[in-house]
Amino acid sequence: MQALDTRLSQLAHRRRTLPERTALAEREQRSAALRDDVVRARTAASDVEREVARAERDVDQVRQRATRNQTRLDSGAVSAKDAAALVSELESLARRQSALEEVELEVMERQELAQTSLVGLEQLLAEVDAEAEQARAALETAVTEVDRDVESVRADRERVAAAVGDELLDLYEASRREHGGLGAAPLRARRCEGCRMEQDAMSIGRLRDAPEDAVLRCEECERILVRTPESGL
Ligand SMILES: [Zn+2]
Repeated sequence: MQALDTRLSQLAHRRRTLPERTALAEREQRSAALRDDVVRARTAASDVEREVARAERDVDQVRQRATRNQTRLDSGAVSAKDAAALVSELESLARRQSALEEVELEVMERQELAQTSLVGLEQLLAEVDAEAEQARAALETAVTEVDRDVESVRADRERVAAAVGDELLDLYEASRREHGGLGAAPLRARRCEGCRMEQDAMSIGRLRDAPEDAVLRCEECERILVRTPESGL
């Protein structure tokens, strides 16, 4: 019974500490972090997109103004003085346009970088999410295996419990509560396997002479002591 209970706590511990659980937690953490990165990258990309639109608008305005001036100039319906002013403004507009086009180019380069970074992060996130999905399935399989073992050990335990009888079972359960889950221990080479203490000569005599169905306790720790062929009695 104690062996089965020990096995059950081992299985419970195993269920809690399955490596598949850690693997899944890592993927989920990574995925959450990447999701934040993707949101940030998406915001950055749309910010740059707005910058590009603004830069395009700026260039367009200057270009339209230059076209208007050029059309007026080409019409010939302007005085010499106005023509001189228009030419001078056209020159300044050309300088302004080329400066704005440089800005536009720089912003477009940044837009490309932002887009590349976003696409890369989205790809990475998809990969990590796929890995997490696999890890989740692996964990489920591992848990199912442990649960199957637990069920089989529980069935064994029920059979043993029926054979042990209520009175001894209560004693055993009380001893287990008192001794951190280890309520009964075998006596091996005159040593209690519960507290590792060697039994003194008087106890050994008592243990040896007790009837086969007597419930014995360790003198040191008071755990139920089970005699075995290796007890050294
Ligand atoms: Zn003991």
